[in-house]
Amino acid sequence: MTESRVAIVTGAARGIGAATAKRLAEDGFAVGVIDLDEKQCAETVSAIEAGGGKALAVGADVADAEQVQGAVDRVAAELGSPTVLVNNAGVLRDNMLFKMSEDDWDTVMNVHLRGSFLMARAVQKHMVEAKWGRIVNLSSTSALGNRGQANYSTAKAGLQGLTKTLAIELGKFGITANAIAPGFIATDMTKATAERVGMSFEDFTNAAVSQIPVARAGKPEDIANTVSFFADERSGFVSGQVIYVAGGPKA
Ligand code: NAP
Repeated sequence: MTESRVAIVTGAARGIGAATAKRLAEDGFAVGVIDLDEKQCAETVSAIEAGGGKALAVGADVADAEQVQGAVDRVAAELGSPTVLVNNAGVLRDNMLFKMSEDDWDTVMNVHLRGSFLMARAVQKHMVEAKWGRIVNLSSTSALGNRGQANYSTAKAGLQGLTKTLAIELGKFGITANAIAPGFIATDMTKATAERVGMSFEDFTNAAVSQIPVARAGKPEDIANTVSFFADERSGFVSGQVIYVAGGPKA
């Protein structure tokens, strides 16, 4: 086991990222809480500190190489070498193919794919030095294909390929890489989708739940719990996997 118990969670100001940062803090990690705007991270950081944990708010755009390096350097200097990385930052730019702009495509690719690549490249040095690490990438059931999400489903399928390659390249350094593919999770992201399709969030959620075997919507904590499993010292023989956390079978 590594001496360093420092995790980085991107997109951790709210939603799944915030729940994950809090859970990793409960598990004993100091957490670098990264999001676009440092001020937006304050709530997550305060919740962690109120629970007796340690956290640092860092503003960075994960799609920007310089900002990523600066953020990782800051976490390393102020909390210690990061050995857990959760690539969670995400955006939607949903549109049917004939209406999808190049900007819709590039924005989604840049945040999900380029962002996860840049973060993994910057953090791996610390993990290799520690001879221990855990990388968790947020994919989605949309990786299997989803109407109106040519950009997002491509990025989320791409993240599964990235995960498997990181697992192969980094395994010999005691580093695992895994992906979580959530189904419907109630967050601002699904609220925004409900708005886009002109439904109330309640109706949108009920429609989703009617298709979910466990008959409820997912919560950010459902995903945080799965991240906690992958980050655990005892999960070191689980690598290159994609786990669908969707209240039923998916893949
Ligand atoms: P969310 O509530 O929209 O939160 C996403 C966070 O990422 C926001 O705080 C956002 O910041 C941040 N972010 C966006 N672009 C960024 C960038 N370039 N650099 C740094 N941070 C950035 O989303 P969520 O529902 O918690 O989703 C989290 C992850 O799970 C995403 O990767 C998403 O694709 C995936 N996922 C979600 C669901 C679901 O049902 N909710 C299902 C499958 C997969 P701003 O607020 O400033 O934009």
